[in-house]
Amino acid sequence: MATILDGKAHADRMLESVRLGVEDRRARGLRAPGLAVVLVGDDPASQVYVRNKSAACAKVGITSIEHRLAAETPQAELDALIDQLNADPDVDGILVQLPLPKGLDSKEALHRISPAKDVDGFHPMNQGLLLEGLPGLRPCTPTACMSLLAHHGVNLKGLRAVVLGRSEIVGKPMALMLLEQHATVTIAHSRTKDLPAVCREADLLVAAVGRPGLVEGSWIKPGAVVVDVGINRIEDPALGERLFAAEPKKLETLKTKGAVLCGDVRFGEAMQVASAVTPVPGGVGPLTIAGLLTNALMAANNHGA
Ligand code: NAD
Repeated sequence: MATILDGKAHADRMLESVRLGVEDRRARGLRAPGLAVVLVGDDPASQVYVRNKSAACAKVGITSIEHRLAAETPQAELDALIDQLNADPDVDGILVQLPLPKGLDSKEALHRISPAKDVDGFHPMNQGLLLEGLPGLRPCTPTACMSLLAHHGVNLKGLRAVVLGRSEIVGKPMALMLLEQHATVTIAHSRTKDLPAVCREADLLVAAVGRPGLVEGSWIKPGAVVVDVGINRIEDPALGERLFAAEPKKLETLKTKGAVLCGDVRFGEAMQVASAVTPVPGGVGPLTIAGLLTNALMAANNHGA
């Protein structure tokens, strides 16, 4: 049976470290870091994320300032708000919650954020620094995954790592961070031929695809470490029967609550083959917010204000 890599526990450790960092700033007579969160429209999932982010800020002493805009907001108005936040000396970090409603260009918005306040690490300047292996604000989810792996003593040097998914926010930066730590990295994606065989080569498998239960137990090399970034909501009982055959508790939750969250990896099957696995929920999910607040503190300290 594999070890469960507890993301919640590690997120708490990361948040405690941020809390101490904020306390240290106060002891030096500096103000609390300020994080501005911009939410456009009324996407229910985004509202939950923003609420969770604000609650986490309150716990560690970061000032969170929410800006809510209507779904019909024109691009020029969003851009003007970003410009205003860029110029505000009390704002250290700016986060534009994605996805933006139809009609708004997320790249334009993200590129407009000052790189020094880009706590999501999505600005081309910060992505370029990551590519060069230089310090900068790095995307929260892969940074937090690296922190989890380091905490659990996973030695990445020379390891065969496969990253499933090539998004700008998870797959690509994750691959770069693993490469920086001397892993031998393959990025696999929707056009990869014979995905199961590629995955079976991995000593470390990171799945960031958004396809529930894509990775079956037979795709996993015995003894591999598996990091499951995917978050998928399942409501269909027939799909649940297929995906959770090795997870009776999850199947039960689906039946009683009518919906359940799962990752891109079949957790019950992975537990039989891998040496360590992150669960969903309770794995990478809580780590992302901890990574965000770590970046907010770093941005404040970099500003020296
Ligand atoms: P994305 O849609 O931007 O990218 C998905 C990637 O998966 C693409 O590169 C695509 O090529 C690849 N892909 C799609 N179908 C595939 C298939 N059948 N086989 C192999 N590869 C395939 O997604 P993203 O933003 O990177 O997010 C991926 C998942 O991670 C989603 O479930 C998302 O909800 C989750 N996520 C979780 C967190 C967290 O905090 N835990 C953070 C970000 C994203």
